[in-house]
Amino acid sequence: MAIKDEQQPLHILFFPFLAPGHLIPIADMAALFAARGVRCTILTTPVNSAVIRSAIDRANDSFRRNNGGLEIELTVVPFPDVGLPPGFESGTALTSQDDRDKFFLGIRLLREPFDRYLSEHHVDAAVVDSFFRWAADAAAEHGVPRLGFLGTSVFARACTSSILRNNPLETAPDDPDAVVPLPGLPHRVELRRSQMMDPKKRPDHWEMFQSINAADQRSFGEVFNSFHELEPDYVEHYRTKLGRRMWLVGPVALANKDVAVRGTSELSPDADGYLRWLDAKPHGSVVYVSFGTLSSFSPAEMRELARGLDLSGKNFVWVINGADDDASEWMPEGFAELIAPRGERGLTIRGWAPQMLILNHPAVGGFVTHCGWNSTLEAATAGVPMVTWPRYADQFYNEKLITEVLKVGVGVGSMDFASKLENRRVIIGGEVVAGAIGRVMGDGDEGEAIRKKATELGVKARGALEKGGSSCDDVGLLMDELMARRSSVNV
Ligand code: UDP
Repeated sequence: MAIKDEQQPLHILFFPFLAPGHLIPIADMAALFAARGVRCTILTTPVNSAVIRSAIDRANDSFRRNNGGLEIELTVVPFPDVGLPPGFESGTALTSQDDRDKFFLGIRLLREPFDRYLSEHHVDAAVVDSFFRWAADAAAEHGVPRLGFLGTSVFARACTSSILRNNPLETAPDDPDAVVPLPGLPHRVELRRSQMMDPKKRPDHWEMFQSINAADQRSFGEVFNSFHELEPDYVEHYRTKLGRRMWLVGPVALANKDVAVRGTSELSPDADGYLRWLDAKPHGSVVYVSFGTLSSFSPAEMRELARGLDLSGKNFVWVINGADDDASEWMPEGFAELIAPRGERGLTIRGWAPQMLILNHPAVGGFVTHCGWNSTLEAATAGVPMVTWPRYADQFYNEKLITEVLKVGVGVGSMDFASKLENRRVIIGGEVVAGAIGRVMGDGDEGEAIRKKATELGVKARGALEKGGSSCDDVGLLMDELMARRSSVNV
């Protein structure tokens, strides 16, 4: 190997899927590797770069101030012209099946800038979103090891793998309430038929997940935003039973050590005001309600949620991301007074909430969540117990992990796997929402046990990236392996 090569830092290209829930952890992961002396480049498109630019700037500032870490580079390429209006280049912008089809065509066409980057630069590895299935072959053609990243839990990947291998819905009764066991997992995991993606109804999705799984299997390995102590049985299962190569490098949100900084950006200009509101509330008295960036609630669902928050008797912060909704369609009587300025019970946030700051505020004692994996892990890291309200994607699996395996939350009884483009049958009543909040935040033994477990999990999460912690070690092992591979390729 040339001496020059030995002295060059590793160079990793990060290529996240075009949705905030994929971009945010990738930016954090890049900060984590850059802090360890890896040259990190993130390849994305203009609208998506805006989601992560401030996080990258902050990480780079801190590297400069502390004279450590390599500055993260952002390479911005146009989103392919597929007939979508300008700026429609994120999963959050899609409101129809036609938009979705065009968007996924654009995703396929992103192979060209990816290929071009790999032709023009030396890269030791590419951390590529698993949704870019074509990237497994593209990276292989350039001789670059591809590390798949889907941004979910190992538990969820193990559940998906069980379903893809066994197709348990094929033999399950054709009744939405039928209980369907997922075979071959470390615990007994069962879902209702209605909570699962049905391959008969969605053959395109079934094919997509089969090929994602196959592409990840023929890649160099996978990286997870998770940590060993969170889901040890599933890490063992994934590695040993399924024979997958993986590194757990999370919780990546801790990459910016000062978590208090994350989230205060131009995306949430009123962050200080929200925090002052929380400062005035007693410890553990506030329930935080947010459903990520891709979920939407019908007016009827919002009405019941609002009633539930009222009935719970708790203080609340509710992030309403359908900013153009008409409040008269959903707001129950008396609710406006709860959230009136200086109204004491509740705060609603329209637009981007500084989620990490809120979850880590001592006044917050519970989180009503859709179980997106970033939100789940952020709550676990903050030691906040959860009320689970999954909608679609991996969220029903994450709910099982939270409520049945980790026992750090309770569910509202969400029954329908449906994205924002689909309808759902069951509307969860306000009394049920209030009941679930009470079980997690109330005085009873159940709430106390859940809160104790959540606190313990938070301690483990924060330890994972400390020196000698499991994820800190996994990052080192991956870097060593990539460096060893560079040496073997160059001899
Ligand atoms: N997020 C945020 N403020 C918001 C909405 C979302 O900071 O108002 C962040 C949240 O902290 C998380 C990500 O956006 O890091 C959402 O990812 P998740 O996997 O929870 O859900 P998704 O949006 O992908 O469904």
